[in-house]
Amino acid sequence: MAVTGSCVQITYRCLFKMSTVEELKLRVRELENELIKCKQKTDPETPAHVRTKIEEMSAEVVDSNPYSRLMALKRMGIVKSYEKIRSFTVAVVGVGGVGSVTAEMLTRCGIGKLLLFDYDKVELANMNRLFFQPHQAGLSKVEAAEHTLRCINPDVVFETHNYNITTVDNFTHFMDRISNGGLEEGKPVDLLLSCVDNFEARMAINTACNELGQVWMESGVSENAVSGHIQLINPGETACFAVRTIFVWQCAPPLVVATNIDEKTLKKDGVCAASLPTTMGVVAGILVQNVLKYLLGFGTVSYYLGYNAMEDFFPSMTMKANAQCSDMHCRRQQEEHKKKATEHPKQEVVEEEEEVVHEDNEWGIEVVDEVTEDELQAASGPKPDLPEGIIPIYTIPPEKVRESPEDMVEETEQSLEELMAQMKKM
Ligand SMILES: [Zn+2]
Repeated sequence: MAVTGSCVQITYRCLFKMSTVEELKLRVRELENELIKCKQKTDPETPAHVRTKIEEMSAEVVDSNPYSRLMALKRMGIVKSYEKIRSFTVAVVGVGGVGSVTAEMLTRCGIGKLLLFDYDKVELANMNRLFFQPHQAGLSKVEAAEHTLRCINPDVVFETHNYNITTVDNFTHFMDRISNGGLEEGKPVDLLLSCVDNFEARMAINTACNELGQVWMESGVSENAVSGHIQLINPGETACFAVRTIFVWQCAPPLVVATNIDEKTLKKDGVCAASLPTTMGVVAGILVQNVLKYLLGFGTVSYYLGYNAMEDFFPSMTMKANAQCSDMHCRRQQEEHKKKATEHPKQEVVEEEEEVVHEDNEWGIEVVDEVTEDELQAASGPKPDLPEGIIPIYTIPPEKVRESPEDMVEETEQSLEELMAQMKKM
């Protein structure tokens, strides 16, 4: 077993630069990671803990088949062709509490290719979340993630980018990889998943996807760790993510809206957002569930699904694109979408009436509305203590933000009785 020089490059120059034991330890970890990658690429005698690649997904029920339980979805009548999963490429932007778990689920499901983007390093402060382990502290998140994921499923093709997508140069490269980084080089990715934790990166993803017409899913967890959401964005069809500011109205508000102040000033020393592995795991779960339904064509794909842990409340809705959105690419995509829709109108699906299963009701069981109006309001939860300028989307927005010409109702001094009397006269 030989490891080629090109794989592991330890140069004197590099060692000279190292000044502390910590830095040397980190370098050793990076090199170990490199070594494993090289072994997997070049060594026919793959180490015992890493399984060999599997050419074709099989439904054979044997203990050694990692796909037997996934392929069983076909036998159960859920998915027509599960093996199609191998033909898809998904880009995950942000490999933190939600993104890492998302990437792991997709890897275990046997996705064809994963592109991972993140510029952060693994820290011990991340250990309240799933996926990363203490010994990976100091490694870049994408590199540590690739190492773990490759061991879990070497059939997946990985492409990692350790950079911040919001800088000008990186943004250009990011756009290029989204349009050309598919399984077959030159083809776009099938889906992009936003698992970032900041507004700037979300806006960069929104801009890129609007321009490229790239379908993507957004995910987020609130600063107080007890609510989250996922959202499917098909440029031109559903509301894009573009922000609403005082002067500009765009498609839809994001999870939290920073108003007037620079987001960076919100991140003060010694102050951090709360996070729970539970909420992040739930959000990653509903995100990947939606990805599987979207890619493999089963069930109902959610356009927006919220999760409020305080009330166990899952609001869902669809938001149409706004014709007045200030993102010109969003408006262009809307025009194209309209054109396509008139050329190929959707066929109305006639729903068959459900058969009544229990006609007699021996026990007098009644179905009541699960959620009352008051409960719906209460489900918005208590207003969390957030830094100035941050408005959580799950609390009811102040009156002036909610106003739109259609919604406005004239206020009146008259009592209800007076109004009723007026109506009777009509
Ligand atoms: Zn828009």
